[in-house]
Amino acid sequence: MSAWSVRAAWIFPGDRGPIADAILMGDGTTITGVLPSKRAADSIRKSAVHWPEAAIIPGLINAHTHLEFSDLECPIEPRDRFADWIRAVIRSRLSSDRDVHHAVKSGLAEVHASGSAVIGEIATTSWERDLSEEIERWTSTSGAIVHFQEVLGFNPDLVEERLRAIREDFLSQPKIPGWHPGISPHAPYSLHPDLFEGLCQLAQEYNVPVAMHLAESQAEIDLLNHQSGALVALLREMNLWQDGLFRPGSRPLDYLIRLAKLPRVLLVHGNFLSQEEIEFVARQRRMSVVYCPRTHAAMRHPDHPWKMMRAAGIPVALGTDSRASNPDLSLWKELHWLHKKHPEEQASELLGMATINGAHALGLPDFGSLSAGKRAVFSRVDLSPISLKDPEQSLFQGTIHPVKIVKGMPTLVDNVF
Ligand SMILES: [Zn+2]
Repeated sequence: MSAWSVRAAWIFPGDRGPIADAILMGDGTTITGVLPSKRAADSIRKSAVHWPEAAIIPGLINAHTHLEFSDLECPIEPRDRFADWIRAVIRSRLSSDRDVHHAVKSGLAEVHASGSAVIGEIATTSWERDLSEEIERWTSTSGAIVHFQEVLGFNPDLVEERLRAIREDFLSQPKIPGWHPGISPHAPYSLHPDLFEGLCQLAQEYNVPVAMHLAESQAEIDLLNHQSGALVALLREMNLWQDGLFRPGSRPLDYLIRLAKLPRVLLVHGNFLSQEEIEFVARQRRMSVVYCPRTHAAMRHPDHPWKMMRAAGIPVALGTDSRASNPDLSLWKELHWLHKKHPEEQASELLGMATINGAHALGLPDFGSLSAGKRAVFSRVDLSPISLKDPEQSLFQGTIHPVKIVKGMPTLVDNVF
């Protein structure tokens, strides 16, 4: 291993406020410390790579993607009518000319270039074996991929077969370095209860994380509460609706109670979780929520309760969601958008959602902050003269460049793909 150090006008460690004129030190791909440069030894200060007009931030954690849609040039519409949007997504999925591998490759490249080192990816196919080269390239930048295999279906006769496939074709496969398997029971409105239960049991047996879309739309709440509304109409149209599958008065809490027994759970969106449900989630140590700001806004849902969740103690992570609902896969743009909407928030506070909270949500303790012992995965943000004075107000206006340690030197790598 070889020691290196880099000095910048500001370092945002991810788990606390920024440090002015600071030095980040490392050995190989491991961080050994971060401190104000005046406290560093002379020899370290002199040998450090110096970025006097930049900030250093941890590699971002994009906790929710569906890379299979990354070849879409623009989002699928109408995003402001959930059941109609699902209809259009199904149509797009069924169109035969989609090249999933090509889409995933371009998605990985786009996510990496925008400063994300880790993704929480939901996939309908096991692309990891065919794209091992791309995974290697991703992990060569010290990043990681959590691959949640998505499962859905209402047919009770197919439950056993689906569970067997997940067990044998996915969970029992040899491990790939930097790639972590997880399970995604898609959503309450797309799962037979027996399939949901079987997937929960598999997550416990294999000790893998689970990501589930929950309380995403009013239509989902209507389906659960009184078996009516736009999603029920859609399921009837598709000949999938079965009377008696959901009992009157069902709600997201019923799912939360089962999910709370699992090793780690990422609740995707949670837009319509009630106060009682938010308090329930806050009491679970290994349960997080991922909020996708621009997708949420495009869907025209009521305001997302992320501040209420944060106040209750829930680690809220951030994601881009897919290009089916968002114009790009840049978590950096997500942060910029969120800060513009909430200028009262400090940049370091929002950055924590995109770093340390994401690491917690995905169960990757080596990531998410710049502190001794963690992975040296970080980006340089070039700041304007005004931003240099007060980056808490304007950090996200800067240009982001992922950094890779090459031969013991922090080096900008805008394109590894
Ligand atoms: Zn999603």
